[in-house]
Amino acid sequence: MISMAGVEKWYGDFKALTDINLSVRTGEKIVLCGPSGSGKSTLIRCINHLEAYQKGEIRVDGILLGDRAKTIDAIRREVGMVFQHFNLFPHMTVLDNCMLAPMRSLRASKAEAEATARRLLARVKILEQAEKYPAQLSGGQQQRVAIARALCMQPKIMLFDEPTSALDPEMVKEVLDTMIGLAEEGITMICVTHEMGFARQVADRVIFMASGAIVEEAPPAEFFTAPRHERTRQFLGEIL
Ligand code: ATP
Ligand code: MG
Repeated sequence: MISMAGVEKWYGDFKALTDINLSVRTGEKIVLCGPSGSGKSTLIRCINHLEAYQKGEIRVDGILLGDRAKTIDAIRREVGMVFQHFNLFPHMTVLDNCMLAPMRSLRASKAEAEATARRLLARVKILEQAEKYPAQLSGGQQQRVAIARALCMQPKIMLFDEPTSALDPEMVKEVLDTMIGLAEEGITMICVTHEMGFARQVADRVIFMASGAIVEEAPPAEFFTAPRHERTRQFLGEIL
């Protein structure tokens, strides 16, 4: 579903990703972790071309991700993304936030877009907030709207970049539960998160990055109990 081969990414003369080789099968759940600045956000942002890469190849659903606008559009339609800071449009209601992209990019009619939006808002248990504006919702509610909004595009892949790290502790669980529900439905997921309970429960593989490179990857049972690299052990020692 996703393959990255020999990917390098530079910000000016700073090398942010070094020789990234990663393939993710359809339906697979990946948790990506690592210290601050290790390149986690950069890696997932390359997958939907929020960042360009300079070397190697990224393929999404067989399509080579290059610089052509048409290809980028095609890939973005298949890849939903949820950010740490929700990024909802503040001047639009919850419902309108969810209807915008399907109407613009999928050319859905207003009625279709609204029906899909209501169905997905119900799925993240927030339909009763449909007419409100983002600022009227709690952080956890806003993040669930952001998840519903991404799902309205019927993506094949969902990317999450620390979706719970800006939330008050009591709201973390409602967002993680939503993500667990999605995972159980079989969508392909890459989640940057330090929620290791989530990783244990949901991940097929945990990938650990440091200094722009993948240091180690393993199924959670192995990753948490028998990390192979000193750098991984050190990281786990700090966060667990
Ligand atoms: P965090 O856990 O803090 O979110 P991260 O693992 O997501 O960290 P990235 O945001 O991918 O790390 O950043 C990787 C490196 O690239 C960092 O050293 C960062 O300073 C650098 N970097 C990120 N974005 C840019 C940018 N737009 N311009 C220049 N350097 C950048
Ligand atoms: Mg980041």
